[in-house]
This record gives sequence, C-alpha cells and structure tokens, in this order.
Amino acid sequence: MSCIFCRIASGEIPASVVYETEEVLAFSDLNPQAPVHVLVIPRRHVESLGSSSDEDRSLLGNLMLACRETAARCGIADRGYRVVLNTNADGGQTVPHLHAHVLGGRAMHWPPG
Ligand code: 5GP
Ligand code: ZN
Repeated sequence: MSCIFCRIASGEIPASVVYETEEVLAFSDLNPQAPVHVLVIPRRHVESLGSSSDEDRSLLGNLMLACRETAARCGIADRGYRVVLNTNADGGQTVPHLHAHVLGGRAMHWPPG
C-alpha cells in the first residue's frame, strides 16, 4: 500500500487523531497552516473529489458532517472556520487521497492564493 493517507487510515503510520468513525478519520496536519489544521479523509481510497462518483454521495455527505464535528471538537465552530478540498494539480492537491482541510483558530483571508 503506497498511499500515505491509506497507511494513516490503517494505523501503519501514526497520526494525531481528532475524530473518527467507521467511514472517516480526522487527524492533525503535519505542516499546519493555521492554529487548527485538521485533515478529514474517507478510510476508503478515493483519489480526489474529481474522481468520486454518484455512488459516493453518502461518503461525501459524511465527510462534510465529520468536518462539522471536527470543528466543534477543536473549539472553532462558533468563531468560524474554512473547509478546503484541493483538487488535482491546479487545485494544489499534493496527496492523491481525497481529504478535506479544516482550518481555523484565526481569521482566514480571501481570495486564497
Ligand atoms: P493537499 O496539498 O494535497 O491538499 O494537502 C495534503 C496535506 O497533507 C498537506 O497539508 C500536508 O501537510 C499533509 N500531509 C502530508 N503528509 C502527511 C503525513 O504524513 N501526516 C500528516 N498528518 N499530514 C500530512
Ligand atoms: Zn489512499
């Protein structure tokens, strides 16, 4: 198994887990871009939002709900946060396993870079 996030999901590579369900895992980003920076991934390997299918409807919904739960657990729900899904090269995706970034703990800028 070469996918780094699959290896984190299987427990082979350690991560600081914030929240998990049967379907998804939320863990702190190794290189945080904000005081709170958590990655939320499906345990099942899906390469990106772009390669997801209509059959992934429930998984994508649960991924969003897990982002909400992650924000609540990290104490950033009330002040606000940003959820980002970098997709493919121009989107800035560097790890080809679908993941949502949950960023907070400071005011975010717009437009993003
Ligand atoms: P992307 O650029 O694909 O949207 O985001 C990938 C994210 O994964 C980056 O923010 C990067 O810091 C994070 N990352 C890469 N490798 C690891 C790792 O082994 N462990 C953790 N916790 N985060 C990682
Ligand atoms: Zn994977």
